[in-house]
Amino acid sequence: MQSKTCPTGIDTILSHAGSSPNDHHGFVNPPVYRGSTVVFPDVETMTRGPQRYQYGRLGNPNTAALCDAISTLEGAEGTVLCPSGLSACITAILTAVGANGHVLMPDSVYGPVRHFCSTAAQRLGIETTYYDPRIGGGIESLFRPNTMAVYTESPGSHTFELQDIPAIAEVAHRCNALVIMDNTWATPMYFKAIAHGVDLSVMAATKYITGHSDTLLGTVAASSRAWDRLKDFHFQMGQYASPDDVALVLRGLRTLGVRLPRHQESALRIAKWLESREEVARVIHPGLPSHRDHAVWLRDFSGASGLFSFVTRPAPVEAVHSMLNDLSYFSLGYSWGGFESLAMTMDPKTVRTATNWDDQGHLVRLHIGLEDPRDLIADLEEGFKRFRAKH
Ligand SMILES: *Cc1c(COP(=O)(O)O)cnc(C)c1O
Repeated sequence: MQSKTCPTGIDTILSHAGSSPNDHHGFVNPPVYRGSTVVFPDVETMTRGPQRYQYGRLGNPNTAALCDAISTLEGAEGTVLCPSGLSACITAILTAVGANGHVLMPDSVYGPVRHFCSTAAQRLGIETTYYDPRIGGGIESLFRPNTMAVYTESPGSHTFELQDIPAIAEVAHRCNALVIMDNTWATPMYFKAIAHGVDLSVMAATKYITGHSDTLLGTVAASSRAWDRLKDFHFQMGQYASPDDVALVLRGLRTLGVRLPRHQESALRIAKWLESREEVARVIHPGLPSHRDHAVWLRDFSGASGLFSFVTRPAPVEAVHSMLNDLSYFSLGYSWGGFESLAMTMDPKTVRTATNWDDQGHLVRLHIGLEDPRDLIADLEEGFKRFRAKH
């Protein structure tokens, strides 16, 4: 990318970052370089020479293009790719924390990361303390001499608490700890993690970056403070992402700038409609003025994506099942970030250990896809009829 006096717009970065048609006979996208062996012209090049690509696991033009693009978007020193979003989360944690170390985890964290902390991380001698995601600078009181990282996920992907990342980063850096953030929800389009003090910014590119629910991939982008450690650990662990998957992710990235605003617009419209429904106790969407952390969202984020939750009025569980079972356009699914709308229900009470979940109704999480929002509203309206019938 050229550096100019006026900063390059995000949509231009999305279109051009990591792109090098001249390296591929003018073809706009890098072809898929499927390969393990890379050969050298002579022994001198093989043993000392700076040949750009040396072996399949260490990178190829597909992975280089995606890493360059993500680093540019994130404002990162460098980026590594992992075979899934979860493996990117774990790679970031193990880059920052080792045996006899301590990590601080938000109580709202993505479930499989919690599972890792209570099983494999424990076996490796890593201690975890869960904290209220809304703690902000108060996190200082939880620091121990061996605290090596603060993990953050803002907003939490079921309950949507926002975290005061700059306040947490200020404390962490003063205490020589790294800040990890799962930035899957906002992506660097709507939250600049590294500029807000994050050292290891993780994304499940599986979600919005890919955008079409057809592959899994994770990215970890590092600040200058963390890059050498990340690069080295990722290499040692033998992490690798398939060039076929990387090509799909790069293709998705090119259209993020038109998809994400549409997810945002439709989701906000549906969230506001839900706020007017008598079946709904509260809507949990950071972009709504009613959200407890709306001020943080206004201060730090430049947008919202398509994932949010609402809590129903107290009702028998059959009411919410009946609502969700027969929706026409919302499917039942765990993932999100694709073009299609999804719904699920979960109970935060069953997983929390550091905070209470006081809502009496059922939590329903929606991913608003790229369908016409009027059809989605009509679908939910029919669902509420079924909800009321069982109430
Ligand atoms: C889905 C998800 C992940 C894990 O991504 P996978 O590619 O499914 O492994 C991590 N964090 C969040 C917030 C997610 O929603």
